[in-house]
Amino acid sequence: MNRFNPIESLANLRHEFGEHGGVNMSIEASTTFTVMHADTMPEIFHGQLGPDTGGCFLYGRHFNPTVYTLGRELAAIEGTEAAYCSASGMSAIACTIMQLCGHGDHIIAGDTLYGGTFAILHDYLPAKAGLDTTFVHITDHDGIEAAFTDRTRVLYVETMTNPTLVVADIPKLAEIAHGHGATLVVDNTFCPMVVSPAQLGADVVVYSLTKFVNGASDCIAGAICGEKSFIMSLMDLHTGSLMLLGPTMDPQTAYDVSLRLPHLGIRMKEHSRRAQVFAERLLEQKIPVVYPGLPSHPTHEILKRIGNAEFGFGGLLGIDLGTSERAFKFMETLQNKDRFGYMAVSLGYFDTLMSCSGSSTSSELSDDDQRRAGISPGYVRLSIGFTGSLEQRWNQLRDALQVVGLL
Ligand code: PLP
Repeated sequence: MNRFNPIESLANLRHEFGEHGGVNMSIEASTTFTVMHADTMPEIFHGQLGPDTGGCFLYGRHFNPTVYTLGRELAAIEGTEAAYCSASGMSAIACTIMQLCGHGDHIIAGDTLYGGTFAILHDYLPAKAGLDTTFVHITDHDGIEAAFTDRTRVLYVETMTNPTLVVADIPKLAEIAHGHGATLVVDNTFCPMVVSPAQLGADVVVYSLTKFVNGASDCIAGAICGEKSFIMSLMDLHTGSLMLLGPTMDPQTAYDVSLRLPHLGIRMKEHSRRAQVFAERLLEQKIPVVYPGLPSHPTHEILKRIGNAEFGFGGLLGIDLGTSERAFKFMETLQNKDRFGYMAVSLGYFDTLMSCSGSSTSSELSDDDQRRAGISPGYVRLSIGFTGSLEQRWNQLRDALQVVGLL
């Protein structure tokens, strides 16, 4: 079987030259665009004439040419008909859900999600939009099946749960969602190129581009990938959540992210390679390590089946240090003594980033919800970087484990 290859798909896309023939595209900074024939204005305004249909761009909060090009590149990487970008991962998630659901509708979501996503589903949307969510563990397919009601519109999961790294069986979840006429939305922030959810049955793929896709921790950005009709609906002048709520991506940001896509594949391979080596060595030393590239990981087989093998098993790795005191000492040693990486929330940076999930990015979850999700107070999530040499980094990691008495 010829598997989808995100690198080849991106390379097949028509190259966007700059205004003067530059090898890089130009940045279109204009917030509004000149209409040459007044009688075309009504059709442009009603979305019947656009940049792809003989019309022109309209307004910067609607489609912008530079952002549009980044969207086409992301659609190529995902193998979706279309994609468009937004100002953050959270706005991509919120606008997707609000586009797919109306007042009173129901959502089923994985019970271990990025804290902001959990909060919007658990607290914000019920209060503001009358939407309610049932949270189910993503491997509990019977539980998910049983949670559907005639109001369920969306099944929402992360490809790999944050921070516990449990992998979703996307083909199975697509089958379940579609059996109930619902839309499967997958947040693939942790696994660009490693997994291509749309090729596995996901209807909409959302991203925080802030992480691996951009890779430099210097901009906040998001994306929504899916069918063209869905992407266009987000920009509808009367009912489009991107158009009306207005989380617009700045064209400069689109340009910056676009310039980093050609080496996304190389970066993902190196994040994965290093995480795999560290995980195997940690396991050998009997350190409680969580990494989906280890055959002992409960969802290793799923990732092996659904992943694009050449990109490995991803750059995220967890170590359970038992207590938060030990986790804090471990991270402080790694940062302040060994210079292994940085104590910072977020992930997907070229250097290693580490955080104690229970007291940071998952702190929106109550203690009970954290326990249910399998997040122990001493769980440290590491987003493995690729600076320095692998052996240098391994020695630093060993040192910190010795300092906290685990080696
Ligand atoms: N999705 C996941 C899996 C995340 O980890 C995050 C942020 O950490 C987000 C979405 C939100 O992204 P942003 O910070 O770009 O809004």
